[in-house]
Amino acid sequence: MRGKSRRLAALAVLAWLGACDAARLAEAPPLIDERHAVAPFDDLLFAFDWVTGRIEQGGRTGVLARWEGPIRFTVRDRIASPSIAASVLPELKRIAAIANVEVVELKDEDPGANFVVAMTSSSMGGTGTGNCAARVAAEASGRLRLVTLEINLASRGGFTGCIRHEILHGLGLGHPHAIPSILSYQFPDLASLTRNDVILLKSLYDPVLRPGFYRLATLDRARNLIARQTGVNEAEVTRRDLGRPVLDRIRREMTEEAEKGGVFAAHQLGNAYFFGHAVAVDHAQGVAWWKRAADAGFSEAAWRVARSYLRGLGVPVDLDAGRRYATEAARRDHQGAQFELAEWLAAESKDPESLGEALVWAILAERGGHPEGARLRGEIARRVPEARRREAEASAAAWRPAPRTAIDAAWRSP
Ligand SMILES: [Zn+2]
Repeated sequence: MRGKSRRLAALAVLAWLGACDAARLAEAPPLIDERHAVAPFDDLLFAFDWVTGRIEQGGRTGVLARWEGPIRFTVRDRIASPSIAASVLPELKRIAAIANVEVVELKDEDPGANFVVAMTSSSMGGTGTGNCAARVAAEASGRLRLVTLEINLASRGGFTGCIRHEILHGLGLGHPHAIPSILSYQFPDLASLTRNDVILLKSLYDPVLRPGFYRLATLDRARNLIARQTGVNEAEVTRRDLGRPVLDRIRREMTEEAEKGGVFAAHQLGNAYFFGHAVAVDHAQGVAWWKRAADAGFSEAAWRVARSYLRGLGVPVDLDAGRRYATEAARRDHQGAQFELAEWLAAESKDPESLGEALVWAILAERGGHPEGARLRGEIARRVPEARRREAEASAAAWRPAPRTAIDAAWRSP
């Protein structure tokens, strides 16, 4: 009791602001409320689309984002409300356990943290509900990098629900408004997760999905994950093509977005058609979408187009076009394109001069971290005369990338 009254005394400093409701924290509702029905299959699949998010709305590029590796948790300004600050970690641990994500507690204010709780006394931006807000930063690879969960002590309280809501954002989930969920604005009074939240969270962290997955590829696989958790026989997913209305709806939305000039949408449609994610494989249509994105300055798509021309997949072989697209992306420091160009030039080269150019691109691909860069560089280097090799190494050392396009910059920092 003594400990509790001391905590309340610390809170009193802020009580005049009409701030904290410690009683609500003490009577936290159960973590999972079983009373809400599990949503129908298609509704859950549609809700899961919010995981990868709406491409180009709110600046998102539409790739799956989640934690890989442990969450390193810390609190800033704990003194402003020790009891509320202390309530976040247990909640985070319980929710992260559902996703099998490890949570490591660091000392308060530790700069090595990647999940920071900050106390504020004003309303804020981010994805906030008024009482709390989360800012979620991800790497281009889709790995979550930094979450800041702000708790507004000047708000009316009822923090448990908002903390849980923001923790789910901090694990990578968006707002599935159409189903009973603590993340849905249709159910503002929910302070517990529902079965639906658990299904979405477990699906997001299933090993068959990876950070960086595109939207249709994610949804295609999510069908099996949702089936498994809702008692639907997985064989039925394929046999009855479950979730097809949702996949078609998302594909139509992405097509509209791409036709309005959405570059990421065009690029992702390219992947979907080329590889057959949620649609039948159609190489020609895949390359056509990639070309749109490439011609808008997107290097990732330019690299795909280059490969297609050089191999004659989806388009007739056109070495000039292939080389042109590859060079464009390679000059903007796209490692895949640098590797592609090096490999192609090395295969085509009859004279040491062009082998030297191949070597420069191979060195750059290796330097940029291409997984096969070292092997290719070694192979080409063995064929290049000593003097040419030194020249190539000097050129690579002095090489500077062409300015990044706006769309490349947006892709790399979602
Ligand atoms: Zn929210």
